[in-house]
Amino acid sequence: MSPINLAIVGVGKIVRDQHLPAIAKNPDFRLIAAASRHGTVDGIDNFPSIEAMLAAVPAIDAVALCMPPQYRYTAAQKALSAGKHVFLEKPPGATLSEVADLEALAAGRGLSLFASWHSRYAPAVEAAKAFLAGTTIRSMQVIWKEDVRHWHPNQDWIWQPGGLGVFDPGINALSIVTHILPRPVFITAATLEFPENRDAPIAASIRFSDADELDLSAEFDWRQTGRQSWDIVARTDAGEMVLSEGGAKLSVDGRTIHAEPEQEYPMLYRRFSEIVAAGISDVDLAPLRHVADAFMLGRRKPVAAFHD
Ligand code: NAP
Repeated sequence: MSPINLAIVGVGKIVRDQHLPAIAKNPDFRLIAAASRHGTVDGIDNFPSIEAMLAAVPAIDAVALCMPPQYRYTAAQKALSAGKHVFLEKPPGATLSEVADLEALAAGRGLSLFASWHSRYAPAVEAAKAFLAGTTIRSMQVIWKEDVRHWHPNQDWIWQPGGLGVFDPGINALSIVTHILPRPVFITAATLEFPENRDAPIAASIRFSDADELDLSAEFDWRQTGRQSWDIVARTDAGEMVLSEGGAKLSVDGRTIHAEPEQEYPMLYRRFSEIVAAGISDVDLAPLRHVADAFMLGRRKPVAAFHD
């Protein structure tokens, strides 16, 4: 099979840190163009907008959309309408309905749409899923606490409507939880803390359950200084499972379980190539649905103003 001619849109932090190195190592892709208002990629044709790029480079087969979620739908709609396969960074959009619309558009045109969830490919996630499949889970606690000033300095979009606030990292935890749990869960209560000068939450405390009254809670907080926590702790009849460092490490009752090497973005591009070859889409909206439910059901608590 000849390589997929790929273009990238929204050249920012995640493109430079992860997409470009992963694409360079994958022979299934040839990066031929980029569209970004300010950013550029060396060695390929660069355009100021997706419209200009699609018009100038008909050889593009697929586009990876890496801009903030509020601007992803319009770009995805243009790319699919021009007959291109689409890779969506996480979260796949600003609303559930717009992603459903893209899914229908892709299906109608026989194109592949990929709603990527990079944290699902963290090294120890599959081992955690396999462990939980053979146990009875008594309770699960998700602790995702990081310093927003360190990880998202001056990213205004993240605090605007649709930017998700603390759910931008929190949705990564939800993408893991919804993948490793053997059955679906739903939110029963939530408290969302909004800085008085922002339109998105800085912290969230969420309770989930299921038909068997599973005790599952999540704490997301962006005010964490010092040690950062991206941990999922499950108490089970086979011991206490700790999936830590965002899915990179796994232990059961303190014993470390072997994890695969770090491969999140290489695995995402392998999956994208696979679905394009198979002529299918891969769109699991469960993590975004939980975020939407938290906004629907959550109590809103005003807290002190946040300044970068
Ligand atoms: P970013 O650097 O702030 O944004 C990416 C690029 O999007 C910007 O450089 C900008 O490029 C373009 N952009 C910004 N505002 C735009 C607008 N109003 N309209 C169109 N394009 C706009 O953000 P990022 O950290 O790369 O994150 C982008 C996406 O990747 C987010 O959905 C995020 O959740 C996800 N992600 C980020 C990370 C991470 O560690 N940062 C990890 C995994 C996933 P131009 O100004 O050149 O157009």
